[in-house]
Amino acid sequence: MGTTLPALMYHSVSSVGGPLRDLAVPPDRLAEQLAALTTAGYRLIGLTEALELRTVGSTEKLVAVTFDDGYRDFLTAGVPALRAAGAGATLYASVGHLGGHAGWLGRWSADFGPMLTWDELAEVAAAGVEIGNHSLIHHPLDVLAPAVLRDEIHRSREELEQRLAVPVRSFAYPHGYHGRRVREVVEAAGHDNATEVGRRLHTAGRRRFAVPRFQPTPDHTGADLLALVEGGGPRLAPQLKRLAQPGWRLVRRAARKAGRTLT
Ligand SMILES: [Zn+2]
Repeated sequence: MGTTLPALMYHSVSSVGGPLRDLAVPPDRLAEQLAALTTAGYRLIGLTEALELRTVGSTEKLVAVTFDDGYRDFLTAGVPALRAAGAGATLYASVGHLGGHAGWLGRWSADFGPMLTWDELAEVAAAGVEIGNHSLIHHPLDVLAPAVLRDEIHRSREELEQRLAVPVRSFAYPHGYHGRRVREVVEAAGHDNATEVGRRLHTAGRRRFAVPRFQPTPDHTGADLLALVEGGGPRLAPQLKRLAQPGWRLVRRAARKAGRTLT
């Protein structure tokens, strides 16, 4: 493993059909995937803790586990699966949508069920899960005007810290989009690190504000996921890319549409 760090990006812990299918991993599949990694000797922890261990030179077998958006099924199905596997994780909350639905998914927004409420998010934090920031409205940040961009990144972090009384150190770019301007605002807001969608291994010390993550799908068996984590992706990357694309195209399209009504 050396100084690399595999990171995983989950979304909903459920089973759905349609265009969002690959962004939802059913609870039993999640349990199988986590168990395959722990059986192979990996310790599964939140992203900030994993980065810190690599920064101080730890070569321990680690996998950073992250969940985006903050669906209620993370509390009802994700946390129990993590607990059973002895795993930690980071949950990125889309602050403006807490207690509602994933409005940025348009007509598919009900597929993943409701988002966590603030009380439920506090339960998640109390369960030992790192709470990360996923902006206010989940709009691609690279296209926002400076004042809006600042609000999306600063206000979301302040709200999370004030209402949950926990430090918020990690940021996940909505839809994965970022650029230097966005990364600078994220860092200036007080975050220590940030994650994108990269489908490759993170190398310690490099690009702490663009940590890449693999996206496990419901089609990855435990063995598939282990191969992805150990191989860094080359063997499974073409398949993963093919499986992941429709979902990502969809969220990007939905975001563009939302952007038109917002700006
Ligand atoms: Zn998201």
